[in-house]
Amino acid sequence: ATPTAIMVGTGLGAKRGVLFKNATALETSARIDTVVMDKTGTLTKGEPEVTQVVSVGTDPRLDLIAAVERESEHPLAAAVVAYAAAQGIAVRSASEFRNVPGHGATAVVEGHRVAVGNRRLMESLGIDLAAAGPIRDGIAEAGQTAVFAAVDGAVAAVIGLADAPRETSAQAVRALHEQDVRVVMLTGDNRATADRIADHLGIDTVIADVLPGDKAAQITRLQAEGRSVAMVGDGVNDAPALAQADLGIAIGAGTDVAIETADLVLMRSDPLDVPTALTIGRGTLHKMH
Ligand code: ADP
Ligand code: MG
Repeated sequence: ATPTAIMVGTGLGAKRGVLFKNATALETSARIDTVVMDKTGTLTKGEPEVTQVVSVGTDPRLDLIAAVERESEHPLAAAVVAYAAAQGIAVRSASEFRNVPGHGATAVVEGHRVAVGNRRLMESLGIDLAAAGPIRDGIAEAGQTAVFAAVDGAVAAVIGLADAPRETSAQAVRALHEQDVRVVMLTGDNRATADRIADHLGIDTVIADVLPGDKAAQITRLQAEGRSVAMVGDGVNDAPALAQADLGIAIGAGTDVAIETADLVLMRSDPLDVPTALTIGRGTLHKMH
């Protein structure tokens, strides 16, 4: 593109809070045919709330669960801690805390071994899910995230958490389809929950159960199919995928690492600004000829 076209495109973007970091970012956005979107904090608000705590056995032991989650920096953990506080539950202190990325967390609380996380975490600890599995399935069918909590090797509770989609997520997907762009959801959350939300938003393809370290490899796989890929994300986990994508797009409300790694930042944190960015890129390219 000519320097003038670049200046016009960059200026148009800036007015909408769509910040292209350089001319290459603007030019690349013209040829994107696939947009991969992180689920939590990108398509959703990233503010999960506990909707239900289902006891498996006699007592869900929220006091022990909250003690573990208080040591974790995961957004799901913050929601569990807030819920326990609202119930007036006294929080215990935890020792031997261990964060297991993409799985959950474990600690010792009042002499009890406590684990909070997904099915992968429970399976890695050899915990039987026969009684808790159907509860989890019900929560996932509702498009909510289910988290297992185990005390001394047995599941004590299954916790349901809801994270509402951003108001404009479905509209953004429709606008991308009108641009002949394929939309993919990429998430560490489980398949049933992810599928339910994707259906609701009209998303074409879901890549679920992805470990934090494997997000970039999923981008590489799409590129190997000949796609020009934009990745939209907010988290520390998303940074390698943002770097691998042809165009890395960070949500303005996201983490510093995501913003620093991206080629383009959406200051309003509005998914609708993704199709806007592609439109500006395409307009800039036209002015080349
Ligand atoms: P995402 O990519 O969707 O943000 P993560 O990779 O951070 O997800 O985590 C994947 C899954 O691991 C979560 O959906 C949750 O089930 C589980 N998990 C991770 N950390 C925690 C935690 N501290 N408490 C409960 N569950 C957790
Ligand atoms: Mg996220």
